[in-house]
Amino acid sequence: MQCLYQLKLKQSQATFGSHTSKSFKDSQVFDREHHIVKIGHFFRNCDQALIQRYLCRTCRKSFSQETIHPCVYQKKRHLNSSVFNLLVSGVSQRRAARLLQVNPKTIVRKFLFLGQFSLAELRNKTHLQNKHIEAMQFDDMETFEHSKCKPLSITLAVEEKTRFILGFRVASMPAKGLLAKTARAKYGYRKDERAKFRRKLFRELQNHISAEATIKSDMNPHYKEDVRRYFQTQAYFTYKGRRGCVVGQGELKSGGFDPLFSLNHTAAMLRANINRLFRRTWCTTKKAICLEYHIALYCFYHNFVLLPNTQPSSD
Ligand SMILES: [Zn+2]
Repeated sequence: MQCLYQLKLKQSQATFGSHTSKSFKDSQVFDREHHIVKIGHFFRNCDQALIQRYLCRTCRKSFSQETIHPCVYQKKRHLNSSVFNLLVSGVSQRRAARLLQVNPKTIVRKFLFLGQFSLAELRNKTHLQNKHIEAMQFDDMETFEHSKCKPLSITLAVEEKTRFILGFRVASMPAKGLLAKTARAKYGYRKDERAKFRRKLFRELQNHISAEATIKSDMNPHYKEDVRRYFQTQAYFTYKGRRGCVVGQGELKSGGFDPLFSLNHTAAMLRANINRLFRRTWCTTKKAICLEYHIALYCFYHNFVLLPNTQPSSD
């Protein structure tokens, strides 16, 4: 049996970096066999599960299996999967609270918990393990935080044919067109971080794309240089952007074969299933990081629930 008290300390050290607690430094002295004994049990409040408590005689601290569980201290952990399913199916946070008969604050907390967890998993690239990518498509889609005067750009990369979402980044960008002048007057200068985050995404995917792979995008002049820099051996094809087929659905293109279908279809799926990305919606993004959480949640649902052949096998 492992000393989970020590493990917890190590985890928190990894999370908070150099801000180590004094107790951790002290506990490093005990870097030998920990002597662990049972000291009773308790029934977990929310589901009455029996949890064994242990005492480490070396550290003189007690703990249980629950100590390192990601859901520790959650009173409504049984709602996690329902909240997840609702939030990736176009249901708003307020309506999710009403449907599940809980306080809206509970949904907010669950959204943040699930979102942070999913985003961390995506950034650790657990979804790319054992993945051999032969063809990739990428493009930007636009949304905004708080007001149309503060647009955000989502760079999305998908695997061709399977439509598996490989990664995404959210970047701020200045308002364009008619709104540009108003936006500057109201909110001042807005940074354009699109190039920076596009490069971050490419760096993340660089080692997972096979050397003979093909990369496709539209004819945005800014893409070429970055693609050349991060994907030297891969073939790069660009296609002219086309008009959307349905009013308001800019992602689905009209007329015949679409070479960027995998990407455009995935972008349309995001628009259809993440309520803050709907066209003409009341639900809008207030913070860019929460948009990232929401897309990360959806990526998991999309990659491992919606797509065929990517569901984890039962064995
Ligand atoms: Zn110990």
